Amino acid sequence: MIETPMRNADALWRPMTQYRTSAQPMLVERADGCMVWDAHGNRYLDAMSGLWCVNVGYGRREIVEACAEQMQRLCYASPLRPATVTLELARKLASMLPGLEHTFFTNSGSEAVETAIKVARQSQHQRFPGESRFKIIARYRGYHGWTLGALSATGQVNRKRRFEPLLSGFVHVGPPACEDCAAGIHERCASDPIDEIAKRIRYEGAETIAAIIAEPIIGGGGVIEPSADYFPRLRELCDAHGMLLIADEVITGFGRTGKMFAYEHWSGVQPDIVTLAKGLSSGYQPIGATVVSRQVFAQFYGDAAERREFSQLSTFGGHPVAAAASLANLRIIEEEELVQQSARLGDIAKRIISEWSHPAISQIRGKGLMIGLEMARDGKRFSEAATDDVIARVKKQGVLIGRNSATISELGNVLTIAPPLSIRDDELEIVLAALKAALQPVRDGQ
Ligand code: PLP
Repeated sequence: MIETPMRNADALWRPMTQYRTSAQPMLVERADGCMVWDAHGNRYLDAMSGLWCVNVGYGRREIVEACAEQMQRLCYASPLRPATVTLELARKLASMLPGLEHTFFTNSGSEAVETAIKVARQSQHQRFPGESRFKIIARYRGYHGWTLGALSATGQVNRKRRFEPLLSGFVHVGPPACEDCAAGIHERCASDPIDEIAKRIRYEGAETIAAIIAEPIIGGGGVIEPSADYFPRLRELCDAHGMLLIADEVITGFGRTGKMFAYEHWSGVQPDIVTLAKGLSSGYQPIGATVVSRQVFAQFYGDAAERREFSQLSTFGGHPVAAAASLANLRIIEEEELVQQSARLGDIAKRIISEWSHPAISQIRGKGLMIGLEMARDGKRFSEAATDDVIARVKKQGVLIGRNSATISELGNVLTIAPPLSIRDDELEIVLAALKAALQPVRDGQ
């Protein structure tokens, strides 16, 4: 047996961590607003909102009180005899997502994606009884979660390969934008990502495809934005072939990109299914949601003997305390106009960063407070280690930012910045000042 020394924090098996070579983790003790304190009392400005999720900031009394009150009144209800507060949240989501009227609740983003995949398969099976529409098209560089279905949809080899073979019936196409253009390796691309999808549909056979799943802006894969016509054309393609469009808004939802939902950036783009988590409760409680159109819901309608219903049950899905937290969170997002704030501060941040004209930032991407910086100089991408050095120097100044880690080898060179949408202007200045200082040695060629 291999000897594994037991260090201080090793009782906790942390994700994506090599215990032999990694340092002990930063343990977080408490948080308030945009600030978090580690176990030694050091304070950091969390410019990643945890994991892209604490949209309203930490320590919100309204949410804490809503949870406590709900726990006292009704701590649990079976999804078969649901809590009134869970219905209230479903109605709230229906009012926020016109055309999408029915919500199935789960406990995480991955489960929301699992649900979307199963809903797509079953509804297409029942809509086209003579056909076998089960395939899901997904994009390389996209991330959809860690459970086997969501991981099968994910297009990041380093998250997947130790678990392969994954589920069959997933077809991957290229990301919405070219990484070599982003890194300045070449200037213009002849390839068109929507043409590629159209070709793939032809090769696979439209009558075998249930849906395409896409993050409106790829998040953990490196903040990859589509061109302005990408989603309108994708919607047309879906309509032409009877395919469902699943918008994975787990990161982008609830104001992160400067719209309540990111698909709203492109007019006429109406998804058939939307997956939500993270900002739905701002991380105060675990919750995921899969919201579907009336047309999709209608495929599950029929006589009892037909068994068209959706046979999935999650013990904790739509948990009343998570629903209460989400409602209180959505109230804050609306009352404090955090969506508009995200758009405004995101524009300011990107303008300031572009004014630096930094030779090692080859592209500034993202919308609202979802920002990605492609680190490449003279057509050469930063290594993961060099990108991590920048992150470490930012941290030394008391600010936490992130990177697209463990996705695809050679492409882990994107810095990510996604602070709470409630961040103050002066706090954003602190983030940018730390970043600028951390990039100075790179500018100086060190
Ligand atoms: N979908 C997207 C776009 C995500 O970014 C994530 C997580 O980061 C997931 C799904 C999975 O969510 P969770 O980690 O809550 O299971």
